[in-house]
Amino acid sequence: MSARVLVVDDVPANVRLLEAKLGSEYFEVVTASDGLKALEQAHREHPDIILLDVMMPGMDGFEVCRRLKADPATQHIPVIMVTALNDQSDRVQGLEAGADDFLTKPVDDVALFARVRSLVRLKLMFDELRLREATSDSIGLIEGDGDGEPSCDGARVLALQEQGRDATRISEALGGRYSIIGIADANEAMQRARGEDFSLVIVDLDHGGADGLRFCSQLRAAEETRQVPILILVDPIDKKRLLKGLELGVTDYVVKPIDRNELLARVRTQVRRKAYQDRLRNNYHRSVTMAVTDALTGMYNRRYVSTHLETLISRRGKERYDLAVLMIDIDFFKKINDENGHAAGDEVLREFANRIRRNVRGVDLAARYGGEEFMVVLPDTDRETAHLVAERLRRQISEAPFPINGGAGQLTVTCSIGVAMLAEAEAPDALVKRADGALYSAKHGGRDQVVMAA
Ligand code: GH3
Ligand code: MG
Ligand code: MG
Repeated sequence: MSARVLVVDDVPANVRLLEAKLGSEYFEVVTASDGLKALEQAHREHPDIILLDVMMPGMDGFEVCRRLKADPATQHIPVIMVTALNDQSDRVQGLEAGADDFLTKPVDDVALFARVRSLVRLKLMFDELRLREATSDSIGLIEGDGDGEPSCDGARVLALQEQGRDATRISEALGGRYSIIGIADANEAMQRARGEDFSLVIVDLDHGGADGLRFCSQLRAAEETRQVPILILVDPIDKKRLLKGLELGVTDYVVKPIDRNELLARVRTQVRRKAYQDRLRNNYHRSVTMAVTDALTGMYNRRYVSTHLETLISRRGKERYDLAVLMIDIDFFKKINDENGHAAGDEVLREFANRIRRNVRGVDLAARYGGEEFMVVLPDTDRETAHLVAERLRRQISEAPFPINGGAGQLTVTCSIGVAMLAEAEAPDALVKRADGALYSAKHGGRDQVVMAA
């Protein structure tokens, strides 16, 4: 994963150090040496994350953070405060200013990358959800319910913990504001997490009975709990398990001994994030009506994907990531209909759609573009990868026969694919036209093949 990181520090040596570390892991780095420049850069460069020094002459990091979070144009950019070692009051003040996380100086490499990656991943997901909301909005499907902060009072928090001092601390810190369900048994906790709606799951890694990390990975693996934020409580010496947790997709962590304010602030951040995420999701689901989906395959229709592509390209702005479009057309589909009947043709279309769905990522958008023509939009995908995806898809279609007549018969189906990469300043129509051109070449080149547009 590559991302653009804005590093803000008034001491040039600190900037250079972070720049070198991040650069070595292929992050793109932009820098600012004071608060005002940081705000400017945040607007101009659209960073995916900001590493923000606290102590700076003029406007300090807290104020910069407050302004970033108050501005709709920058409020979704995760901010990591870089604070002096172990300064608890800095942390709390940072969280109150809206910071998403902290790093302490001197910055530890492994924690730096784990943290940056996990927050960037989160931002990409939010960007995608917001984008889809915008798409539905421009189709006119949702009555905009404003940008008001969703309510978080009484949010339900599940805590996997032993009875004891830490459990008491958690209830004391959070009890007034949230409804805490403390459970000691990991299996029971998993069952509750799957069956009920929680805003956050807190996992004490010192939990004696079961392996807390295993519980985290189960949460991430189960469909119903995949999206729930997880906050782990770790011992400062237990760095290995902390990193493992972040790798597993844990959202945030608090190091013991638990500081009441820090826990409160971090939980608040997660609960707000979840509420926001739910709102996007609900709007999105509400809006995805028959108007934008295809009844036969359940895929998005041409109207939706066209609008989505337009939004995607117009919003791309400074985020100069690559974008690929695949046009996929079933070969000799008319013959399939003619020889096996229209119902069998429909079965083939449905299975075809399923195979496409199985082969693309969550952020990709697959749609039925026409009768037996499909389109896949792949954001953040380079030419080589787009070609690989198209080839893999082509093989997934041709290598296993399609069942027809409810499984009584089967057919070999092939498809042709045209791939086009978005060119500088290219309009959506032009991009689709080039993908179509490549598809046409694939047909003329003998079908069952992938052609990349020039
Ligand atoms: P080529 O390899 O050049 O793409 O040939 P083709 O036969 O696939 O292309 P053509 O455009 O000649 O035929 C497409 C056929 O797809 C014609 C149309 O009846 C059929 N079709 C379109 N929508 C549906 C549908 O929803 N269900 C079924 N069963 N057939 C459909
Ligand atoms: Mg400083
Ligand atoms: Mg065809």
